[in-house]
Amino acid sequence: MPTSMKIPSIFDLMNEEEETENEEKERQKRRKELIEATGVRELFRDGKISINKFTCVGGQCKLCIKACPTNALYWSVGEIGIIEDLCVYCNACVANCMIDNCIKVERTREDDTIEKIGKISDIIKLQEKKNAEKQLERVKTNAVMLRHSYKEKADDKQIRQRQRLLSYKI
Ligand code: SF4
Ligand code: SF4
Repeated sequence: MPTSMKIPSIFDLMNEEEETENEEKERQKRRKELIEATGVRELFRDGKISINKFTCVGGQCKLCIKACPTNALYWSVGEIGIIEDLCVYCNACVANCMIDNCIKVERTREDDTIEKIGKISDIIKLQEKKNAEKQLERVKTNAVMLRHSYKEKADDKQIRQRQRLLSYKI
């Protein structure tokens, strides 16, 4: 090892880690400010987006740019550019792109569920899954309500029977 090469101390490494953390915090703060200004709610913990420049028809299309609610996409020097800090992973661009997997969005929900979307059929599948979950929740709630109402009716019946028996005694 050349003698001039300095081995980083534990303090140097700790400082580096702290600097990276601070940079990430600063990035998150800037992102929050940018998105807040668009009035669009951020629903995902994390995500990433990419556009395949080889399959994109670009200048003749630009539908994704028009669909994006946060202006995260723009047209520049013959291709679609992305401002990642503005993307809220809503999929509006994927839904409007006519080429499958030209735009790819991967997003993480608060419960750590990861969703990968690249075409309309992915969005439909997600929607169907969500609807099925909602339906299941409704069925569960109805079952609980029905059980309560049956129980109340059964209790009423018991009370009436008891009252009848008591009135015989009197
Ligand atoms: S997913 Fe697409 S439409 Fe939605 S914010 Fe990101 S770039 Fe815009
Ligand atoms: S909608 Fe798809 S094909 Fe059209 S410009 Fe955007 S990425 Fe390219």
